Formats: sequence, C-alpha cells, structure tokens
Amino acid sequence: MRYPKLRELKEAVTALIKGPYTTKFPFEPHKPAEKFRGKPVPDDDWCVGCRACAEVCPSGAIEVIDEPEAATRRIVRHYDKCIFCGQCELNCTTEKGVHLTDEYDLATFDRKTLFYEQKFELLICERCGRVIGTKKHLLWLARRLGPLAYSNFPLILTAQRELKIAKGKIPSKVPLTKTASASRSDIFRILCPGCRHEVLLVDQYGKSL
Ligand code: SF4
Ligand code: SF4
Repeated sequence: MRYPKLRELKEAVTALIKGPYTTKFPFEPHKPAEKFRGKPVPDDDWCVGCRACAEVCPSGAIEVIDEPEAATRRIVRHYDKCIFCGQCELNCTTEKGVHLTDEYDLATFDRKTLFYEQKFELLICERCGRVIGTKKHLLWLARRLGPLAYSNFPLILTAQRELKIAKGKIPSKVPLTKTASASRSDIFRILCPGCRHEVLLVDQYGKSL
C-alpha cells in the first residue's frame, strides 16, 4: 500500500510543476496530433471531378449531381455525414484532389451550412446525351498518358480543343468521294460508353476537303 501512495504523490507533484495534461479548449485552440484525421478539404487545382471518392465514401457524404442539359457536374461534400475515415483521400484518382486536414471544430447550429460544392464542365455523348465524364478529367488523362493519349480520339480531341488546335464539333459528314481513298490508319473509332454507338471518323489533317 505504501508504494502506490508514493507514486500518486509523485504524479501530483509532477502535475503541479508541468501543469494539467488536458487542454483548455475551447478557451484556447487545441493542436491535434500529427496524424489526426479532420475535415476533408478538396484541392480545386487537383480535383478533376471524376467521382471516384464518392464511390468509396462509406457514409454517402459525397453527393454527385449530373445536369446533362447544363453540361455540369456538381460535387457536394456534406461534412455532417463525414466520418473522417480518409477513404476519399486514399482512393483519389489524382492522389492530390482531397486531403484530410487537422480541422476538427465543425460544430454548428445549422447543419445545412456544413458542405463544400464544386462545379465541373461535363462532356456529353452527342448522340444519346449520356455523360462521358468531366472535361477536366479527360484533360488530366491526356496529360498523364502523354503520347499514348493519341490512341483515344475523345482524349486528343478534348486536349486539342483546349489548345485551340481543334475547334467546334467533330464534322459529322465527310464527302464520300474523299473518304474512298482513306486507308485504315486514317480512321478513328469512337465508342460511347452509354449508348455503345460506334462512330468512325476519318482523319483529314493535311488533306483538303
Ligand atoms: S477522386 Fe479525387 S479527383 Fe476524383 S472527384 Fe474525388 S477528390 Fe476529385
Ligand atoms: S473522410 Fe470518409 S466519410 Fe468523409 S468524405 Fe471522405 S470517404 Fe467520405
């Protein structure tokens, strides 16, 4: 019995010298531990709106709203549903699109204010009107693939439109007399993931119509 009492006495003296172990939050800001998982904040430079994080979010905190008529995708992160698991950060396509911060003080009287919204331009299949993906995602893929992107026509077309090399829509009609001489290497195939409609395009670069 003597030793525990001495140990408690030592603890009491140490606490008197060092001060209390607990923090004084909310009267003083609290510094979380190094690996603390707090509010996930997207990085608008790196988030391409691919929706991969919404697919893995276990609590359904990431809402994806596609508006094909307006060619817009909205991604809304609802912090009142977030459980700070870190799956969005772990599975982010670009690896830098969202980060868990050390922000923990999210309490509010109105949970409707606890969200963050992003907007992206959507690419839509011109035939069936279904969503192909966000323009930013395709541009990111084109940059990432480099020369390999030239095996996928929608990727190069999106990238070249951005660089103002290509403009407007893909010409839907090419005179038959001119296509008759096209070899197989001049023909691109596009497959819409929604309607599975296949379109053949003839590369007329460097040739006069
Ligand atoms: S996975 Fe990453 S890049 Fe894709 S929408 Fe989520 S945060 Fe953005
Ligand atoms: S931390 Fe987890 S719960 Fe919160 S948004 Fe990311 S995946 Fe969803």
